[in-house]
Amino acid sequence: MNLQFDESLAANYKSTAQKIRVMSEVWLTQNLFCPCCGNIRVEKMPNNSPVADVYCENCGETFELKSKRNHIGAKILDGAYHTMIERITSNVNPQLFVMQYSNLSVTDLTLVPKFFFTPDVIEKRKPLPPTARRRGWVGCNILYEKIPAQGKIAVIRGGTEVAVAEVLRSYDKAKKLQTNNINLRGWLLDVLKCVNEIGTEIFTSQDIYKYAGILGAKHEQNRHVEAKIRQQLQFLRDKGFIEFVSRGVYRKVV
Ligand SMILES: [Zn+2]
Repeated sequence: MNLQFDESLAANYKSTAQKIRVMSEVWLTQNLFCPCCGNIRVEKMPNNSPVADVYCENCGETFELKSKRNHIGAKILDGAYHTMIERITSNVNPQLFVMQYSNLSVTDLTLVPKFFFTPDVIEKRKPLPPTARRRGWVGCNILYEKIPAQGKIAVIRGGTEVAVAEVLRSYDKAKKLQTNNINLRGWLLDVLKCVNEIGTEIFTSQDIYKYAGILGAKHEQNRHVEAKIRQQLQFLRDKGFIEFVSRGVYRKVV
């Protein structure tokens, strides 16, 4: 895999954003395999496709690409807020590639599967001011740091490619968490994040119930927070992310 962008592609573009857009997108189609099915390449979407940039001919998955120079940081700028929320809740969201580059070379590429998106990780930005061409338009940020670790699948890490088999394995594992009901998805990913935050491999119900207050505040319509947490732990156990050691004692499966 050649990690360097092809600079000749940028010659006809004026703005840096456009140059990077063209170079990073072409880079994907020339170098990347499909992280969902292992197909040897991904293709460019027809021009002006509203949401996705590339797709896989074999499995039909579509991907949006967001890139940033030097450091991804906590937030990633995305498009219109309402469109994004609609996409997430109607399950037509593409997969997301998050690319970090430095000196026109890819240093990190991470796949965020579409089923890791909840309204919670989409931040509404301030409407554009009256002086702007698109006045009143409301954009959004993806709160990247709020996405649990299991939803950030490394394809390139620190300038080094991750083995294809490992990427596919991580995606298959993450896919077990897929749920299309947006409320259930919110609960599941929230409890998963709490489990991730607990510093030890073995933990107890008391460790996880410490988050009941936070979770209850986030899901106000639900009064039986502890029961809901237990239900998510069962789901995580059934999907192989944790094991039940004994009554009220759990172990994380790495
Ligand atoms: Zn594919």
